[in-house]
Amino acid sequence: MSNNSTFAAGWVGGGELIGTGPDHQVINPATGDVVSTTALASADDVDTAVTTARSALGDWAGATPAERSAVLAKLAAGMSAAEDLLAEEEVSHTGKPIRLANEFDVPGCIDNTAFFAGLARNLDGKASAEYSGDHTSSIRREPVGVVGSITPWNYPLQMAVWKVMPALAAGCSVVLKPAELTPFTTLTLARLATEAGLPDGVFNVLTGTGAEVGAAIAGHPGVDVVTFTGSTWVGRQVMSQAAVNGTRVQLELGGKAPFLVFDDADLEAAIHGAVAGALINSGQDCTAATRAIVARPLYDDFVAGVGELMGKVVVGDPLDPATDMGPLISFSHRDKVSAMVDRARAEGIRVVTGGSAPDARGAYYPPTLLADVPEDAEVYRDEIFGPVLTVSAFDDDDDGLRRANDTVYGLAASAWTRDLYRAQRASREIHAGCVWINDHIPIISEMPHGGVGASGFGKDMSTYSLDEYLTIKHVMSDITGVAHKPWHRTIFTLPR
Ligand code: NAD
Repeated sequence: MSNNSTFAAGWVGGGELIGTGPDHQVINPATGDVVSTTALASADDVDTAVTTARSALGDWAGATPAERSAVLAKLAAGMSAAEDLLAEEEVSHTGKPIRLANEFDVPGCIDNTAFFAGLARNLDGKASAEYSGDHTSSIRREPVGVVGSITPWNYPLQMAVWKVMPALAAGCSVVLKPAELTPFTTLTLARLATEAGLPDGVFNVLTGTGAEVGAAIAGHPGVDVVTFTGSTWVGRQVMSQAAVNGTRVQLELGGKAPFLVFDDADLEAAIHGAVAGALINSGQDCTAATRAIVARPLYDDFVAGVGELMGKVVVGDPLDPATDMGPLISFSHRDKVSAMVDRARAEGIRVVTGGSAPDARGAYYPPTLLADVPEDAEVYRDEIFGPVLTVSAFDDDDDGLRRANDTVYGLAASAWTRDLYRAQRASREIHAGCVWINDHIPIISEMPHGGVGASGFGKDMSTYSLDEYLTIKHVMSDITGVAHKPWHRTIFTLPR
């Protein structure tokens, strides 16, 4: 994406859309430079896109699983061929390190697409059964219809892929709005899908603001399910917008993942896991390790080890393969993170390392460790979404698990121990959609991602995510062939 080029306001009906919404600039957060500029889509464009998706639905829903699978497999191949472009575009608007884009984001998206190409052929309902004696029953799993998706800026390509691929595998059509800060890779994905043979109008993208285009998608009566990834605050607004039409929703929201280190843990592994888990994507990851809760005997060594390792992390130009961590997504987000840490410092919380923004061109913020953090502190309770890890001590296992669960969120957590029974107990007792044991962050296409509590409900990835895009239909057929069914006697007595 060259400097000061323009990008389309959307991809609708298999081609570029000229925007009718407000002018918008996409900024490279590593430099503050304008990467691209355009007129965004508007609420009127939502109507066009939903109508387009509705007319394309019949043929795609009616395609055989093998036909849908073939298109998704071709799309995965097209994404592989465009790997470099996707990685460069992703870096240009997120500022994430090119190594992360090359080794995590893009390959993960290709794998996810390939996974759903396979799953498209495995949509079977339950086998038929004769439960009543007079009937045979079967289950059909049918596409829910037109999907409206709204995605965030932290992993723009992955979040789009997580919503779109199961929807397409299920036979749905899609209207998706990426975050206005990061539209490029989602638009490229839509173009690649068209090139892979996806019928025009099945996958439509609209750029645009949340308040205008996002709200119009969530509240559109022609949308059958709204799938959203973003903050808890906006997710709740989306839910109420969808409620006006009684539309189904799936919500992947914020997180405040505990990182629970028991006193028998491998300390070196826990230190490395905490730094990697806290700093991935500059900490702008809903599952990032944000609250380390460490058994008192290991506490001082953990704090010293994490502080030292954070000091060695290379922060800099995202395009340099040696860079470990790039900037935050925007200057305003950097200022928000910085203000939260400033308030923590003012409350007397110990800043072990980091804690102040450098004098740099980009929206940089250093790896930051806050120690001895009390349970009522803002940085302990609220999502920071930056490279900031808090650490607090616990005294016994009950106390540690209580602290891990002392949050409204429930997306992800990890427990660090060499004791099988502690690991089992933690995996059962921690309220979260995912509990890692002796690791933090890895995901795989075959396993579900999604939270509980203020982290939302529903699943991305895995066979479970298909359920978001399918309806279950019961088909019950008479097998007696008689005109006068025995049960009719309950209703009327003639004729016998
Ligand atoms: P956000 O909630 O501000 O925005 C998400 C999307 O919603 C954007 O496309 C935005 O334009 C749109 N939007 C904003 N206002 C809207 C409205 N009134 N109606 C409809 N749409 C609207 O989130 P963000 O700042 O882009 O992303 C960061 C948040 O996303 C964090 O809270 C993070 O935890 C969360 N997140 C969650 C997951 C998960 O899987 N649970 C994954 C990634 C990010």
